[in-house]
Amino acid sequence: MARLPFEGGCQCGALRYRVTQAPIMVYNCHCTNCQRIGGGAFSTPATILEASFAFVSGTPQTIQWAADSGTTRFGWFCRVCGCRIVHGQQPSNGILSLRTGTLDDRSWVQPVGDIWTRSAQPWVTIPPERQRFERQPTDYAPLVAAFRQLGHFPTVT
Ligand SMILES: [Zn+2]
Ligand SMILES: [Zn+2]
Repeated sequence: MARLPFEGGCQCGALRYRVTQAPIMVYNCHCTNCQRIGGGAFSTPATILEASFAFVSGTPQTIQWAADSGTTRFGWFCRVCGCRIVHGQQPSNGILSLRTGTLDDRSWVQPVGDIWTRSAQPWVTIPPERQRFERQPTDYAPLVAAFRQLGHFPTVT
């Protein structure tokens, strides 16, 4: 069972953050923005409540872009090492996508689905038991339920 609150930070350590409530879900995103931002095949964000997230040291730089889904997204990153920490939507929808590679403890990071598989790299293999979505899911409830079932956190608020 994972502990709350949990913490993480950027590569150089200038930015540190804390999350006080259980994450809602973890999935892999194969969209072209995630591929470019991370420089890899996909990202593995944890969806968290915006109100549960705070920086405890450092001040992030902000960048904005138009997502594949058409919404305006923003990212907070370290002005020293350039590491992306978290992404959100503008105007806010109350949730943030936390880049799980920045966590101190990654033991609970387990994706329950894959989204934007239409732009997934051809050599990426998605296990049949994992939910898959060609684009942005219209309903995240099955992903939320699957993550809750893993039981990494006591309750999802
Ligand atoms: Zn840094
Ligand atoms: Zn993405």
